[in-house]
Amino acid sequence: MAKINDNFLKLPGSYLFSTIAKKVAEYTEANPDKEVIKMGIGDVTRPLVPAVIEAMHKATDEMGTSEGFRGYGPEQGYDFLRNAIVEHDYKARGIDIAPDEVFVSDGAKSDCGNIGDIFSKDNKVAVCDPVYPVYVDTNAMAGRAGKYIADHWDNLVYMPCLAENGFMPQIPDEKADMIYLCFPNNPTGVAATREQLKPWIEYAKKNNAVILYDSAYEAFISDPDVPHSIYEIEGAKEVAIEFRSFSKTAGFTGTRCAYTVVPHELKIDGTELNGLWNRRQCTKFNGVPYVIQRAAEAVYTDEGHKEIRENIDYYLKNASIIREALTEAGLEVYGGVNAPYIWAKTPDGMKSWDFFDKLLKEAGVVTTPGAGFGPSGEGYIRLTAFNTLENTIKAMEKIKAIL
Ligand SMILES: *Cc1c(COP(=O)(O)O)cnc(C)c1O
Repeated sequence: MAKINDNFLKLPGSYLFSTIAKKVAEYTEANPDKEVIKMGIGDVTRPLVPAVIEAMHKATDEMGTSEGFRGYGPEQGYDFLRNAIVEHDYKARGIDIAPDEVFVSDGAKSDCGNIGDIFSKDNKVAVCDPVYPVYVDTNAMAGRAGKYIADHWDNLVYMPCLAENGFMPQIPDEKADMIYLCFPNNPTGVAATREQLKPWIEYAKKNNAVILYDSAYEAFISDPDVPHSIYEIEGAKEVAIEFRSFSKTAGFTGTRCAYTVVPHELKIDGTELNGLWNRRQCTKFNGVPYVIQRAAEAVYTDEGHKEIRENIDYYLKNASIIREALTEAGLEVYGGVNAPYIWAKTPDGMKSWDFFDKLLKEAGVVTTPGAGFGPSGEGYIRLTAFNTLENTIKAMEKIKAIL
């Protein structure tokens, strides 16, 4: 008899975004004349930039010729893209990464989940709380999270990120083997400085732990003290894997291209994780489409860089408008400086969902309740900067009017 992976049965339903959609639908039905502005969206909205579109067209035409046609590409990505990544994202910042340490993929979400393949089921996993749910759920599926009791997994180490600690995870008392860090952070929008990251590298070295560093929002960093890569910290190449994506950087959420860096120095008991990840990818993945990799390469041209910068600045301007408006409205506001996310404390100790309901019913603004990102998210809401400037301004006026 076939048996299922019964770890899947332990997963609680992911009701967050479906519950939000249901509440919004109910409100719209009851108030057909009222406008609803969505500040909960975790997806980019600006179109792909001209340099990217041009590269895609050119590569598409190539594919229609016998000289230019490509079938299966290298599982790890084409050299032209791996070289561009090394040159612009690392060498330009004084970081020495070799092209064969870069693995191009179809998404940082897939990579963050798939990376678990190369680790033992017995590893202890530490996550921030609140957290991007992918790290938690993929480890639960692999059997590393234990049992789900009330609002948490009993075999995960939760690192609470609260106003009291500046939303920075504290080094855990228990020993952790795999530590997920994400900066600039989703959902809090808070970024870690070099000084704040150093102790993690030391901890990982001392405990033979591996840091899984998600820097999907690296392009939004505006503060010079905030590193764009974990490898800016000395010794990080011996202990960290880094995930990057073109999704938020260049609007590739629907286009799909990302990459993961696994340095040769990173070894467990003498085994290079680079070799394991390479083996995993070659077996289970057949590469990102040629056309898409050419599109990603165009992000690094002068025009491409300038054009994506304008989009990021557009979102960051929205973020500063949200920060200012909510502060004026008397809320405690975090994030939104190095990230497209704003994390706001609910007034008078209101529950996340109650404040969500109030903003929807009284202001017609959709947010995301913090409790949906983990137990320590209770008492907060998340707003995103991904709407239009016009809608962002309008939404903030409506919120200010009711608070
Ligand atoms: C959006 C996001 C990603 C990017 O995922 P892709 O699969 O590359 O689109 C990764 N990590 C976090 C925390 C994100 O919010």
